Amino acid sequence: MEKKDKKKFRLTLPVQMFLGLGLGIAAGAVSSSGFAETWLKPLGDIFIRMIKMVVVPLVLATLVSGAAQMNDVSKLGRVAGKTLLYYAATTGIAVAFGIVFGLLFQPGAGMALAGGAGSAAANPPRFADVLLNIVPVNPFSALVEGNMLQVIFFALLIGFALASTGEKGKNVLLFFDGLGAVMIRVTDYVMHCAPFGVFGLMAFTVSKYGISVLMPLSKLIIAMYIACALIVFFVYFPSVKYTGISFREYLRQEWPPLLIGFSTASSAAAMASNLQAVRRLGASKAISSFSIPLGNTINMNGTALYCGLCTVFAAEAYGLHLGIADYVTIVAMGLLAAIGTAGVPGAGVIMISIVFTQLKIPLEAIALIAGIDRVLDMARTPINVLGDATAALAVTKSEGELGRDPFDEAESAEENKTA
Ligand code: ASP
Repeated sequence: MEKKDKKKFRLTLPVQMFLGLGLGIAAGAVSSSGFAETWLKPLGDIFIRMIKMVVVPLVLATLVSGAAQMNDVSKLGRVAGKTLLYYAATTGIAVAFGIVFGLLFQPGAGMALAGGAGSAAANPPRFADVLLNIVPVNPFSALVEGNMLQVIFFALLIGFALASTGEKGKNVLLFFDGLGAVMIRVTDYVMHCAPFGVFGLMAFTVSKYGISVLMPLSKLIIAMYIACALIVFFVYFPSVKYTGISFREYLRQEWPPLLIGFSTASSAAAMASNLQAVRRLGASKAISSFSIPLGNTINMNGTALYCGLCTVFAAEAYGLHLGIADYVTIVAMGLLAAIGTAGVPGAGVIMISIVFTQLKIPLEAIALIAGIDRVLDMARTPINVLGDATAALAVTKSEGELGRDPFDEAESAEENKTA
């Protein structure tokens, strides 16, 4: 009896993460930045390392089995085509949203920074190299180095090949299927450390930057959060409506991955939870295990929005005029740069450095944004997570498979207790 009562009061993981968030902010407010950096930040660093530890095997296994399960080649092509089209369209819309919000809010206007030619910042990669680097010379070194685009490329090829290998490839397919399930379970273990990680990351962020850093850039932050909310309303809401799922139910199931994305600023951390959420909402196993891991790396609507907004912000801050051709460049580069952005905290900064370089905006502007990047990252990451989920649901619906392949809750009894 006593035992039963105890269980009832157990806090769920999202609540624990909220507590970590609140306590982290409080601890950051009262501790010196030296103390927070030495003693609290490592908690966050350990957590981020553990997430990175899971990502490569998780993406490899789920993508291989996702691609292989679409054993009908025409279906595979269709699903891949629809998914990629959806990703490209929503990412393009997101960059445009960012630009429009930048122009409306003018967050950088009046900052009048002097132009800084000859920036000391590291050289961002060239586009041709980004594209060329998708093809691994050695897939094993791609896995070892955690080169996500190369891992995806290789995983998709293996999956396609397995789909047509028949009996001989059966054991290999079973292996990847099992590895995926095991990695999702390992992610669950890692997520139990999330409250501590969130606590450490928040304490460090607040103690280092303080509330005061937010003030001069508050317009940028406000514009970012409003634009993110509107993306949900104008892009995700119609997609969910198309599937016939109620928006309330969608948000209810997506709440755990959304919260993980918000508090960790890593969509990779939210991937396993996102997979389970879309399965509960009725996405098919084959489609979700194809589009969620793929989208985790190449579909970043929140990051694309951030890219558009920050480019306008920096151009304004430096008094640079952007013409129509520049806006087209921002959208095109935003689309391509999102492909190479990993789902880890702060990765979007690399993306804006590519765009800034192309438009000859001083890279010093990045230092300005970097001060508040965590706050912006907490807005864009949940948008990245939700974008992958809506794609999986919309594509499943378009294939007429929504709810046809029910999620086996028994398989994830462990997660149900915590999520
Ligand atoms: N933090 C983002 C994510 O994990 C990537 C970014 O920095 O924009 O999705």
